[in-house]
Amino acid sequence: MKCKKCRKRFALALTVCILIAVCFGVIFSHGEWWFPTVQSLRVYPAPRLTPLIETGALERWELSALSRMPNVTLSNTLLLVNSTHPLPKGYEALLEEYNGARMHPLMVAQYIALRDAVQEKTGVRIYVSSDYRTAEEQMQILAQSQDGIAAQLGCSEHEAGLALDVYAPYCAGEEFLRSPAGRLVNRICGEYGYIIRYPHGKEEITGISYEPWHLRYVGQPHAQIMMESGLTYEEYLEFLGEGQWYRTGDYLICRQRPEELALIYGWKECHISPDNTGYLIVILKMA
Ligand SMILES: [Zn+2]
Repeated sequence: MKCKKCRKRFALALTVCILIAVCFGVIFSHGEWWFPTVQSLRVYPAPRLTPLIETGALERWELSALSRMPNVTLSNTLLLVNSTHPLPKGYEALLEEYNGARMHPLMVAQYIALRDAVQEKTGVRIYVSSDYRTAEEQMQILAQSQDGIAAQLGCSEHEAGLALDVYAPYCAGEEFLRSPAGRLVNRICGEYGYIIRYPHGKEEITGISYEPWHLRYVGQPHAQIMMESGLTYEEYLEFLGEGQWYRTGDYLICRQRPEELALIYGWKECHISPDNTGYLIVILKMA
């Protein structure tokens, strides 16, 4: 630098640049400050579900007859569980244990795939902090809950064996979003059959405050549709309505009354789950 004035200007500019970089660094490392807002500002497209005008021939079925067929999966993975839809009386969760975490058997491979994808892309491994809960365990949580946010007995998805709370090292709860792993889980979980069940800005619908760590398994194609279109599970069920068939990719979907169960002729694979609102959700693969 030739003159004193120029050196001063340079030092000032350098200080400002460093301050700006530090500010950005601090903000970026606190994903819980900005990530929910960025997510809620996204413009979501309409759900990728095309109504079928012509379904072709329909065949009536009894659920008991379908349950004996090898290409049919009956599960409870689409149960709506919230304060107004408690688990059915006598509900027994179907569970498999993986690394000490109990979850529905259909969830295991998908959880491993999600965890490994997150680790591959961010270098950070995620872990399960809460899995299936017995009624006794839920009662204990309820008794210890000081702010009253814990779900009432029978109203927790953890009791259904369909939810996992996850964390990254040193980043649990809301701080899960401080980790790039937490933010990535929130972006891609739909590809692995999981949804962020209690999204930011949808508290009035779900009745639960934002929980970026609570993953609910609903399977495909539902998870991908909901995560892409920003719908909560409550909104998704409302969108499906009653008796309307939709096409999405290779799947056909319909929400039906159990007593009026009818499948489109020529189906190759079928998955049926009750949704805990009096309906069955039917997913067909035709080829
Ligand atoms: Zn949870």
